Amino acid sequence: MKISLLLTLILLPVGMVYSQKPNQENTVTSRSYDHLIPSNPQQIRTSPAAKNIILLIGDGMGLSQISSAFYFKESLPHFARFNNIGLMKTSSTVRITDSAAGATAFSAGKKTYNGAIGVDSDTVSISTIVEILSNEKWKTGVISTSSITHATPACFYAHVKSRGMEEEIAAQLSNSEIDFIAGGGLGFFDDSTRSDGKDYLQTLKNNGFTLQTEQLSATVDPNKKYAYLLASEHLPPVIEGRGDFLPQATKLALNYLSTGSENFFLMAEGSMIDWGGHGNNADFLVSEMIDFDEAIGIALDFAEKDGNTLVIVTADHETGGFTLAAGENYNEIKTTFSTGSHSTTLIPVAAYGPGSELFRGIYENTEIFHKMMQAVSITAK
Ligand code: MG
Ligand code: ZN
Repeated sequence: MKISLLLTLILLPVGMVYSQKPNQENTVTSRSYDHLIPSNPQQIRTSPAAKNIILLIGDGMGLSQISSAFYFKESLPHFARFNNIGLMKTSSTVRITDSAAGATAFSAGKKTYNGAIGVDSDTVSISTIVEILSNEKWKTGVISTSSITHATPACFYAHVKSRGMEEEIAAQLSNSEIDFIAGGGLGFFDDSTRSDGKDYLQTLKNNGFTLQTEQLSATVDPNKKYAYLLASEHLPPVIEGRGDFLPQATKLALNYLSTGSENFFLMAEGSMIDWGGHGNNADFLVSEMIDFDEAIGIALDFAEKDGNTLVIVTADHETGGFTLAAGENYNEIKTTFSTGSHSTTLIPVAAYGPGSELFRGIYENTEIFHKMMQAVSITAK
């Protein structure tokens, strides 16, 4: 009696498992292998220290997004020019990251909660690479196709509890050590649109920035600082006429930052690959991807000539569960999406130049920060 009851109890769940139909929507409770990935894989730098770093972030750019450039761009994507490639895990303090926690991992080397801008999981400010390198007298630049106060760029210079605090982020930017900014976000600085009526455009000017609100300038004076705020909030998407802002801003920043003897750090973000993913809009996504690839080309052209510059291209996370599936037949590519949100697929990291060998392997997103520090031989305090 007792034994048969026990058997029933054991066999019941087994039967349930086998009777279950395969379900494509199944939410799998994944096993965690996080503890098996070394937090620091101890890669050894075999090249001289890098003099400059260019970090290019394609927001929401997973492997399928990168692959789409190989199928839909009319020329060979600049991605093909990298030979040091790695893969990165992107979780925040939860499995699936947002752009704020993702960029804080890159800028400051710590996993934090989604929404956190340059603060740890206890909301304590943590030094960013821009701050650390500015202290070492490096010149720094930040570029974005979204508002310059949006989550990804903000994590490089600001410290706030929540990504929504864009007026505070603008205030912190206008008092930061950054030398060159380009993107949108004018409305977060302007006294006529800020909720507190304060004039942070004046603060930018008081702190030595030459402010431009119409377009990128043709030339730059290396002895000045520049703030290009070219939209009230975000710049338009490529499909709505942004043109070649991102590659041109990258080129202008490199002209500016490389004049003189100082080392430099530049972060440039293709923000809207993510938006194409959220909107499940493949044309939007691919046009942003191709534009971002053009910026990669500008960075690689510079680094090839310069010889002392490390270029890293990666993403904070994938967006849209984007796939390049077979269409009507196996010669037709059909773009599909599995979500309007972020996914947690491993993200490629492509690196070029001195220190690029450090970026091989499979590691956590926080390692991007530590590997950059290792590449330039600076110990974060
Ligand atoms: Mg972003
Ligand atoms: Zn997103």
